[in-house]
Amino acid sequence: MNKQIAVSIKDLRYATILCRTCNTRVTLDLAMEFPPNGHMPFSTPKECPRCDARFDSVIPGAIDNMQKVYQALAEIGDAVTFTVGEADY
Ligand SMILES: [Zn+2]
Repeated sequence: MNKQIAVSIKDLRYATILCRTCNTRVTLDLAMEFPPNGHMPFSTPKECPRCDARFDSVIPGAIDNMQKVYQALAEIGDAVTFTVGEADY
């Protein structure tokens, strides 16, 4: 029997980037409020704050996009959930 965990996107609140050079972990709060001017509340760093190694070039844009998705889905609460493990159709 496979274990399943269903989570709403609010449960996925933090994104953590691992620096593969020095193993520093950078954690970003996806729930940070958008300011009234509509700009992103943060933009994902492009390099490690400890050793200045650049993250994989895919990471900053992907996390910025994830933040937009998070904010949109968080507004509708638990109407959409994500499942960890095998899907049970
Ligand atoms: Zn680093």
